[in-house]
Amino acid sequence: MAEFTMELNDEQKEVRDWLHGFAADVIRPAAAEWDEREETPWPVIQEAAKVGIYSLDFYAQQYFDPTGLGIPMAMEELFWGDAGIALSIVGTGLAAVGVLANGTEEQIGTWIPQMYGDTNDVKVAAFCSSEPDAGSDVASMRTRAVYDEAKDEWVLNGTKTWATNGGIANVHVVVAVVDAELGSKGHASFIVPPNTPGLSQGQKFKKHGIRASHTAEVVLENVRVPGSCLLGGKEKLDERLARARERAKAGGGERVKNAAMATFEASRPAVGAMAVGTARAAYEVALEYATTREQFGRPIIDNQGVAFQLADMRTSIDAARLLVWRASWMAVNGKPFTAAEGSMSKLFASETAKKVTGQAIQILGGNGYTREYPVERMHRDAAIYTIFEGTSEIQRLVIARTLSGMPIR
Ligand SMILES: Cc1cc2nc3c(=O)[nH]c(=O)nc-3n(C[C@H](O)[C@H](O)[C@H](O)COP(=O)(O)OP(=O)(O)OC[C@H]3O[C@@H](n4cnc5c(N)ncnc54)[C@H](O)[C@@H]3O)c2cc1C
Repeated sequence: MAEFTMELNDEQKEVRDWLHGFAADVIRPAAAEWDEREETPWPVIQEAAKVGIYSLDFYAQQYFDPTGLGIPMAMEELFWGDAGIALSIVGTGLAAVGVLANGTEEQIGTWIPQMYGDTNDVKVAAFCSSEPDAGSDVASMRTRAVYDEAKDEWVLNGTKTWATNGGIANVHVVVAVVDAELGSKGHASFIVPPNTPGLSQGQKFKKHGIRASHTAEVVLENVRVPGSCLLGGKEKLDERLARARERAKAGGGERVKNAAMATFEASRPAVGAMAVGTARAAYEVALEYATTREQFGRPIIDNQGVAFQLADMRTSIDAARLLVWRASWMAVNGKPFTAAEGSMSKLFASETAKKVTGQAIQILGGNGYTREYPVERMHRDAAIYTIFEGTSEIQRLVIARTLSGMPIR
């Protein structure tokens, strides 16, 4: 097990500087354009693929970094560049983590490369869990997966919503109900391979922020996938369901993780790191502005009212990063989140991003409120962090339940 450290090693610093260069030279200059276009920035993804940032190898290297700092460091730098474009670059990772968390080695080897494509023909992937009536309340999921034993195929029917890259993805990972009586414990994840008949894109959402990232409904009508597309395999699923049924009969007992939750737990600190990146970007713009903008014959930072805001902004950002790094180190080293540290990191970092980007607008005054300066976009982007991968309220529920052991509602 790696000791927890707050110091990046030389290799990590090199990677961080390389990512920062890409974020500063390629992502940030393209941010305003793709925000206005509200389209997936394919040329930027391709550029990221060419230099090796959009690749399975790169993420695997960061994901398995024993210090746990690889992924948060990478997320912070890319999202510092721009949240919408960065989500287009890393969105595939959520589906990849779904496969890594629940899939067999063979499934990992088969499907993850197809999620990314290659440098000449980049692809993206989507993770589809949320539904119109099942957002925070994952147990209300209605999409059904029924096993056709004669053909060894699963048949999926339902409507997913809010899927990042939904409908434009080469590979979709779909969470569906296999045993409705078990609630969220009766869910399983399936791969829907490229060009599978019956999967189509529903409406594409016009959003408040992260507008360069594609978000859409995914409609599944009699989608047939081979038995091998059940993540983890049938034997493991049958065992898991049998255990859940026994526990349900016995009236509860030990908790069982469901497929979607396993994905979210692993990815929460990473979302916190994205929020840290956006917050830091806005803080830097505000600091620079406050030192150069003059009113009453002196830089506005000369006023404690402005300087103290910047002090608070930076303090919160550093605190958020520490929570994120701790949770990420714990996750990589198999330390259980006994105080819901993953949720804590996501909660604090996302609330920090929302607050800090708002403070940045205030410090820039009228300019902050226009699209001539990036903090307006950053503030719109930051609002997503308190919503996706579990809202702030749901993170608080998870933390409070974990701390108290009580079924708090
Ligand atoms: C841009 C974007 C991208 C997304 N990408 C994906 C994706 O790739 N894959 C995917 O599966 N999903 C994705 N999501 C979905 C996202 O995870 C959900 O939006 C989120 O979980 C909240 O669900 P909901 O929108 O249905 O809100 P609801 O669950 O309806 O919540 C509405 C409000 O009620 C509050 N609330 C609900 N229940 C409680 C409670 N018990 N206690 C206190 N407050 C409560 C919530 O906190 C929230 O404030 C994405 C969403 C967006 C907006």
